[in-house]
Amino acid sequence: MERSFKKEVQALKLGDGETFHGEGILAVTKALLQSGVSYVGGYQGAPVSHLLDVLVDAEDIIGDLGVHLETCTNEASAAAMLGASINYPLRGAVTWKSIVGTNVAADALSNLASPGVIGGVMIILGEDYGEGASVIQERSYAYAMKSSMWLLDPRPELPTIVRMVEEGFALSEASHAPVMMELRIRACHVTGEFKTKANKRAAFSGKNRLAGPPRFDYGKLAHPPVTFTQERLKLEERLPAAQAFIREHKLNEVIPGDLADVGIIALGGLTNSVLRALARLGLADLYGASRIPIYVLNVAFPLVPDELRAFCADKRAVLVVEEGSPAYVEDAINVELRRADIGTRVLGKGPLPRAGEYQSEPLINGIAAFVAETRPAGIDADAVTARAKTMLAHKAPAMAALGDIPPRPPNFCTGCPERPVFSAIKLMQRELGPTHISADIGCHSFATFAPFSLGNSILGYGMSLASAAAVTPNMERRTIAVMGDGGFWHNGLITGVASNLFNKGDGVLIVMQNGYASATGQQYLPSSAGSRIGSPTGMTIEQTLRSFGVKWLRTVRTYSVAKMAKTLTEAMRTAERGLKVIIADGECQLARQRRVRAADAEKLKRGERVVKTRFGVDDEICTGDHSCIRLSGCPSLTVKPSPDPLRTDPVAGVIESCVGCGLCGEVAHAAVLCPSFYRADLVRNPNLLDRALHRIRQTVIGWFAPHEART
Ligand code: SF4
Ligand code: SF4
Repeated sequence: MERSFKKEVQALKLGDGETFHGEGILAVTKALLQSGVSYVGGYQGAPVSHLLDVLVDAEDIIGDLGVHLETCTNEASAAAMLGASINYPLRGAVTWKSIVGTNVAADALSNLASPGVIGGVMIILGEDYGEGASVIQERSYAYAMKSSMWLLDPRPELPTIVRMVEEGFALSEASHAPVMMELRIRACHVTGEFKTKANKRAAFSGKNRLAGPPRFDYGKLAHPPVTFTQERLKLEERLPAAQAFIREHKLNEVIPGDLADVGIIALGGLTNSVLRALARLGLADLYGASRIPIYVLNVAFPLVPDELRAFCADKRAVLVVEEGSPAYVEDAINVELRRADIGTRVLGKGPLPRAGEYQSEPLINGIAAFVAETRPAGIDADAVTARAKTMLAHKAPAMAALGDIPPRPPNFCTGCPERPVFSAIKLMQRELGPTHISADIGCHSFATFAPFSLGNSILGYGMSLASAAAVTPNMERRTIAVMGDGGFWHNGLITGVASNLFNKGDGVLIVMQNGYASATGQQYLPSSAGSRIGSPTGMTIEQTLRSFGVKWLRTVRTYSVAKMAKTLTEAMRTAERGLKVIIADGECQLARQRRVRAADAEKLKRGERVVKTRFGVDDEICTGDHSCIRLSGCPSLTVKPSPDPLRTDPVAGVIESCVGCGLCGEVAHAAVLCPSFYRADLVRNPNLLDRALHRIRQTVIGWFAPHEART
């Protein structure tokens, strides 16, 4: 995994009345253990990868409690795991990144929500919405509504987050429905403290197993005809039970305010941003006391009609703060108020934008527009508008003063093993011409940015080969699908490979075998050289593909650019029909550096020999055409002024961050660019042979040096 949480997991051992300090995501983990879970699992993805990583590091603690931990191969497997709570009084929690993960898990979620649960079920969703998100801008709300699962969206502060986890299990059991808790990026990383409780051992767990299965009950199956009854149960029993629980346990909050003829209804996760915007407008203080009353929906779905009516009854207008479209909450509030014949005006989309994250600027503008429109009694609405205008007026001159800032797209890490594959594709395309490339989710999708700009579509994680299924038969030239080993195990093996073989497809598949789910922080995969248990699983991508019947299969070291380009050319040209797979093998450089750096530091401590390879460019030979930079895209390869006073073009240069992967030299060689690259081995604690070789080299070099240099 990306980093070790050994220190942080000590916080998971805190007992009654102690104080936890740390990040939101770690607080959730502690809250799960305080809630008496019997099992936990999930699939990694931002911003909740750390939840699983922490649990993996805390395996001894959760083992003592008898909690089973499953590192699932995808979100569907995690959702299906929750089936344990349909028949048994077992509390369980799983996690994944939404909305993409929820899409993958949707089948199992429907079939879980229909029969309902008797053990509390909590799904922790990393709600990756807005700026910085890496997925489609959609929300989990639609899934909650369509499947009758309850959606918590806690205010980003630790005591509320922890309370929502604990109450969420009770809500799930009281209403027999699964509960989802969306954790926005800011909620995951918010820091704070809360008073802890001792971890709770579940009544049934690995330490105290269930005696046997229950009596057969057809009602527990998501299968017609009983699904018709289950639909009725969802609406007639579970929904009212959930609404009663939410009301009785005060899961939603009201922040009072003196400007009581108007109000704000904010989703819990947006409350801090709303309070900050109010503070900047002079309508709240820095401690969260607001002049406009706020109804905080820590439960985004379902709404509690009588709570809502009570909040709105004496208000002329309310502003609903909910990101994205459709405006599910705003629409539902309108319906509830009209049903109750309450005339409160509902504003939301209009003052606030229909799309995008509600950061500071849209919220300041939106709240100021709401105040200007509704003119609450007791304040000067025009002064609020003027204040917003003054604040935001600084932006345009500041941007103008900064001038054009060059775009800085994301890129592969220095020395990434995946970069050379795209250099090889470029070289192959020089010879054969461009071809359709189906890209995928993972680090390799950075190749869609300059200097490679390779990839024609991205349809989902592990979907690249499947997304080429209808392109290949309609295109003169073979297509190339690029998939990571993470995507391969997530579903690419079945969705892509099995489907291609079943349909006698053609085309080329490149599987990037870097050894980890790297983009999410280096979690282990079925084909990793190790596993969280220690020993490797014994599963390999190569054996798996052969067992599926792939005949044309090559494994090529990624840094061997010339060989990779040759293999690609062969795959594109061969008369052999059928799927051609190239396993591009090279360990994630980030993981490698962490491993190697620690090992080297240990060696140096023991006074042992350590060799570090560096590459460089000979200034005098470099022609300055920079093809090496364009073909490799390595951030450690840059330009510098030429030392030759007769040349104005800058030459290429390698900076200190170089990890010595050798790609630049390989590319220069494979593309027949120039012989300016050299390799240098920096030897620390040299042995006798190193010293002898050094002396011989110095002597030979000395023979060629000019006479003055020798004297
Ligand atoms: S995390 Fe690993 S695989 Fe991903 S870009 Fe960095 S080096 Fe490459
Ligand atoms: S400069 Fe060359 S050797 Fe160094 S990391 Fe970049 S591509 Fe690899």
